[in-house]
Amino acid sequence: NNKNKTILVTGCAGFIGSNFVPYFLEKYTQYNLVNLDLLTYAGNLENLKESENNLNYKFIKGDICNKELVEFIFAEYDVQGVIHFAAESHVDNSIKNPGVFVQTNVNGTFTLIDVAYKYWMDKPFTYKEKYNNSRFHHISTDEVYGTLSLKLEDMFTESTPYAPNSPYSASKASSDMIVRAYNETYGMNTVITNCSNNYGPKQHDEKLIPTIIRNALKGNPIPIYGDGKNIRDWLYVLDHCKGIDLVYHNGKKANTYNIGGRNERTNLEIVNTICEILDKRVPKITSYKDLITFVEDRAGHDKRYAIDASKLENELGWKADENFDSGIVKTIDWYLKKYYSIES
Ligand code: NAD
Repeated sequence: NNKNKTILVTGCAGFIGSNFVPYFLEKYTQYNLVNLDLLTYAGNLENLKESENNLNYKFIKGDICNKELVEFIFAEYDVQGVIHFAAESHVDNSIKNPGVFVQTNVNGTFTLIDVAYKYWMDKPFTYKEKYNNSRFHHISTDEVYGTLSLKLEDMFTESTPYAPNSPYSASKASSDMIVRAYNETYGMNTVITNCSNNYGPKQHDEKLIPTIIRNALKGNPIPIYGDGKNIRDWLYVLDHCKGIDLVYHNGKKANTYNIGGRNERTNLEIVNTICEILDKRVPKITSYKDLITFVEDRAGHDKRYAIDASKLENELGWKADENFDSGIVKTIDWYLKKYYSIES
């Protein structure tokens, strides 16, 4: 659609982006979305089936590190905004193979924002008006803040100092800093959102919740790192997408917003909850809990993450629609239907 503004979205064949694209296209008809995704092992176009025929949507296979390609996309589609999801995202992979995390998450973010800067700002004065509101929205993680004590009042806020512990979180922290610098140095209109652990439909098999569901239903051991007492703050993926939408449109320039569901759970609680739901939905003679197996802890495993989302709640009126108990039922139903043809 020629009258629409084009937003470049990256990495949307992955988990969060593929939930974001249909939500956003349905809500706004005044945007075209161009999705640049390399289709690594984590990207799957199946995730975007419902959007592939939407006239306001276009997919381009390619690497965010490819400067010529990114420049071509900006010029060809007159890109006026960026929402940047693409990343290597799995902590375990970053421990085995950190190089690709630095390449995609650091160099890739640099390439994107540098091309955006030149396209929007490095222009003769007469063009400036057009790109005045062009915004670069960087999607990041709460893992950049490191780990918390078990004291409940201890939470990550936007002013918590960065202290990343894994190669994954270090690469995300670096990319956040690059985005910050493009605002501080060049005055670019940037925003960053740092979100807690997401769960929901379309998450890659490698992540905790799909791994639990898959192993349980196959009757395989359900692996839990260490003593299972590490705490994560879980957010239903659509609530994350709604937070991104609010920040992209209404967040203050140069600001960071934390997004978290106020749903702290130990990993063991997560497994137990999923097993209890499966015991009701797909009963077996013995409980799925019998399959729980403790395995050697992840190296450098952060003990606890918890997000204080007050800024997003108070400034922009965001609130999670799902709590963990409602979101996990929706998630399990989705996996049962998709992979096991079991209807709720
Ligand atoms: P994902 O791994 O499911 O998807 C990543 C996508 O990026 C894939 O489609 C992949 O093909 C694409 N990609 C990877 N390298 C690329 C490259 N060089 N060029 C172009 N595309 C490339 O990740 P996700 O869980 O959807 O996470 C999306 C973003 O949100 C990431 O930036 C991640 O750091 C952040 N985040 C995720 C969570 C979470 O719980 N999943 C929480 C907080 C923040």
